[in-house]
Amino acid sequence: MPSETIRKTPLDRAAANLADYPAVRQSFTWASARGLLRGLPGGGLNVGYEAVDRHATGERRDAVALRCLGPDGVTELTYGDLLRRTNRFANLLDQLGVGRGDRVFSLLGRGPELYVTALGTLRHASVYSPLFSAFGPEPIRERLARGDGMVLVTTPELYAQKVAPVRDRLPNLRRVLVTGDGPPPPGTSSLNAGLRTVEDRFEVPPTEPGEMALLHFTSGTTGRPKGAVHVHEAVVAHHVTAAYALDLRAGDVFWCTADPGWVTGTSYGIIAPLTHGATVLVDSAEFEARRWYANLAEHRVTVWYTAPTALRMLMRHGAALPAGYDLTALRHVSSVGEPLNPEAVVWGQAALGHPVHDNWWQTETGAIMISNFPALDIRPGSMGLPMPGVEVALLARGEDGRAEVTDEGQVRVVDSPDTVGELALRRGWPSMFRGYLHANARYAKCFAGDWYLTGDLARRDADGYHWFVGRADDVIKSAGHLIGPFEVESILMEHPAVAEAGVIGKPDRVAGEVVKAFVTLRPGAIADDELRLDLLAFGRRRLGVMAPKEIAFDNHLPHTRSGKVMRRLLKAREFGLPEGDLSTLENAR
Ligand code: ATP
Ligand code: MG
Repeated sequence: MPSETIRKTPLDRAAANLADYPAVRQSFTWASARGLLRGLPGGGLNVGYEAVDRHATGERRDAVALRCLGPDGVTELTYGDLLRRTNRFANLLDQLGVGRGDRVFSLLGRGPELYVTALGTLRHASVYSPLFSAFGPEPIRERLARGDGMVLVTTPELYAQKVAPVRDRLPNLRRVLVTGDGPPPPGTSSLNAGLRTVEDRFEVPPTEPGEMALLHFTSGTTGRPKGAVHVHEAVVAHHVTAAYALDLRAGDVFWCTADPGWVTGTSYGIIAPLTHGATVLVDSAEFEARRWYANLAEHRVTVWYTAPTALRMLMRHGAALPAGYDLTALRHVSSVGEPLNPEAVVWGQAALGHPVHDNWWQTETGAIMISNFPALDIRPGSMGLPMPGVEVALLARGEDGRAEVTDEGQVRVVDSPDTVGELALRRGWPSMFRGYLHANARYAKCFAGDWYLTGDLARRDADGYHWFVGRADDVIKSAGHLIGPFEVESILMEHPAVAEAGVIGKPDRVAGEVVKAFVTLRPGAIADDELRLDLLAFGRRRLGVMAPKEIAFDNHLPHTRSGKVMRRLLKAREFGLPEGDLSTLENAR
């Protein structure tokens, strides 16, 4: 059974940054975590300063901060290089009259310019907002408009394809800076030419911990993406969660496979590893199983942070493939973004030499909140335990499936093990979002008293491990049972013919709802009635009352660009309802 506990040895424990979870959890304070950072010389706190200046002016000045694998080869930037380049970028913002708090967007592939834009903007105390380069013109326009984008840094090609067609509908976008050395398209100016006119010295201005630093749009899995506002103080959480949950330290070669267009790719793809003085591996190319194993091997990656969808794709290529690569440098593997199937956790152990450590968080939380830690046993399928400094509660639910909040704003915490409740976090961690931009009422609705309500349902076992049940919107109620799609999908994926599954509830006169599964088959499996019956029987055997009553074969399950199954779209298509916001749909143009 894949779901047996994976035990950690005393050696594992001794080697981990967070060796004694209970003791640290008890003594932890965010103030002490703040003490792990340097802070600005005149007081205050700036994300960019902690990521760049801190090491560029210290022992790690000549260490490689970024190793970028691009179409034309490898580019390395040391911490010292990063300081000089972000100094110039910050000076250029000054020259352009960009002030603190003004929004600077990037629409770039994963390469040095993206990182310089992000860190230069943060060091300038302006606000950085990343756009995923595969978005089409409309999602780009929408985010720039909603986010009050004043400056955009992009390539001439992306500009021509995706921004020029909508530029006349972006009256507040004052400046577009394009990379490269060719003549800039009309309406833009050359980034490089601008950078040449300014000095490479710059001092980070006084920055308050509560000043806005980052604007991140959510993945749009459940609806129109929301613009979550984060502040400089978030860096305290980025830093300490990376130490504890990802086991990051100076000298690591760290690869986060998420694009910086998503919060994971910024919090952990840019900020956290640099605050630790690690070397960040950046690959401009898309997923390809052989390339990914080769990256891990050739660059001696020590800590790897990826996503369930990527792991599932690697698993489809079989276990023989990784055996051909030297993965001995790897020390720790983590995953986030979607439920991680127990099978994938265990697969990691065989294929990579390390089990995959699942962790849970959201754009809104800014940093990892619940995690499987390097020193603690893993229960495959579980998201793990709360981060030190983070208080997690499960709240009793009302009719609509979400936490029940009284008129006075009171909620009820569910104490008994294995009872499903809405996952809530007590306010007060530094990377908590401080607003949905231009949507104050929506923001206010996320809180009840001291609790932030996440919209996810979970249960906690007697040992304190948290188990994801589903998004409140996705959970299925069938004949009095509460069914989380993830559990059903996970079991279906254990069937040898199934590569991936997406599960929804379908209205049913008798049961209220019944489970319908959309299934992508592995190569070679034949989508016929025999297999359908076999899958239905397999489901009944393994899941009992939770088994799917209907199976549809579907080799094109809708995913978000960050790799999540979009169940809301499966539902909309099934019921002939409007499909809603499709801006983050993979393959959408
Ligand atoms: P939107 O809010 O626009 O619908 P989204 O919720 O997918 O999109 P993100 O903030 O990127 O946007 O994703 C956070 C969500 O992803 C979580 O609330 C949870 O539902 C899911 N998630 C993240 N990590 C895990 C995990 N380890 N296990 C289960 N679910 C996870
Ligand atoms: Mg969400």
